[in-house]
Amino acid sequence: MSDLELKPFNVREIREEFPALRQQIYGKNLIYFDNGATSQKPKLVLDAINLFYSKENANIHRGVHYMSQKATTEYEAARQRIQRYLGARKSEEIIFTKGTTDSINLVAYSFGLSLSAGDEVLISAMEHHSNIVPWQMLCERQGCTLKVAPINLRGELIMEEFDKLLSKKTKLVAITHISNTLGTINPVKEIIEKAHALGSKVLVDGAQSIQHMHINVKEMNCDFYVFSSHKVFGPTGIGVLYGKEELLDRMPPYQGGGDMISRVTFERTTYNELPFKFEAGTPHIAGGICLGKAFEFLESIDMAAAERHERELAKYAEDMLDTFEGLQIIGEAKNKTSVVSFSVKGIHPFDIGTLLDKQGIAVRTGHHCTQPLMDFYGIPGTVRASFAFYNTKQEIDTFVEAVERSLSMLK
Ligand SMILES: *Cc1c(COP(=O)(O)O)cnc(C)c1O
Repeated sequence: MSDLELKPFNVREIREEFPALRQQIYGKNLIYFDNGATSQKPKLVLDAINLFYSKENANIHRGVHYMSQKATTEYEAARQRIQRYLGARKSEEIIFTKGTTDSINLVAYSFGLSLSAGDEVLISAMEHHSNIVPWQMLCERQGCTLKVAPINLRGELIMEEFDKLLSKKTKLVAITHISNTLGTINPVKEIIEKAHALGSKVLVDGAQSIQHMHINVKEMNCDFYVFSSHKVFGPTGIGVLYGKEELLDRMPPYQGGGDMISRVTFERTTYNELPFKFEAGTPHIAGGICLGKAFEFLESIDMAAAERHERELAKYAEDMLDTFEGLQIIGEAKNKTSVVSFSVKGIHPFDIGTLLDKQGIAVRTGHHCTQPLMDFYGIPGTVRASFAFYNTKQEIDTFVEAVERSLSMLK
């Protein structure tokens, strides 16, 4: 990856790469503002999916024939590309999983086996269900305790409270880098330094950060970083667990089966080395290769400029929405990304979402898999518009007008 390949950031050119954005819904130009749920896919990825299944489909790692060897090479090349992009030391530290949820469950099971009564896992009040429930299951299994660091009304972690909850008993901090509901960017570097000082490891849920900013796991110094391919312009059904080699080496396998073994007898099985130890069974081969393509695409994007563009979009939308009577922006952290969540007094988010849909605008409504967070705000859910770098100011103008129209119909 070299900076020389970077093209100047140009939304119009970027949009050309995404066929899904050029369609009409109910006779209206699609405005896709549900990027927090999943992103659209660039041609580079779409073409690679088609090519793989048309010409290159073969199982990997054990094949003697040409196609199998080619698929293996491409699958492993994708792993290496992701390793380089993330700044990981070795490609062995990149484990292919089904996605964020699967990656967290892997760590909760495998790393979790080293925890016992008296140990604590510390999460935050803004976590996605998939960064809550696996830890609850772990705590039940191992007899350890789950602690939850509170947030303030702006949707920011209260660091003094976090500091009080972090102790020598904390074996793992599992924290989202960016809240999918609020857009809050958590100070993960500070959290990691503090946790490490007390001997705790840190898992960063990167499901909402990998697509918005350039991530370097070595600089961040997290112990685990997890994300889903489908939110970062790749296919569904695949994701990544990055883990430090010395930790992954010590962790037992999560699932047993083919590929994860080195030798099997009925008496005893020895396990394969990293990363295969954690990849039982035939993986999502096309998914891995095409996730590699998604990163190839990302490498051509000036992420710093993309991030600025996205934040401008969010600020622009918020400033206009804020003037609507009864509308409250949920999530007003000082440091936040391109997510605009809001609720309107006396109107159910679902009704707003339905009317927006009829105008060709895709947003998310509901609890966004963060029910405890909705309880904290005392609301059933929000309307969430989440932007990607391919969204435009014109789209926001149309969206804000559509919200205004919808509210006048519902009041
Ligand atoms: C989407 C999301 C998840 C879960 O990702 P899956 O792709 O459903 O496994 C976890 N955490 C955050 C912050 C998310 O946005």
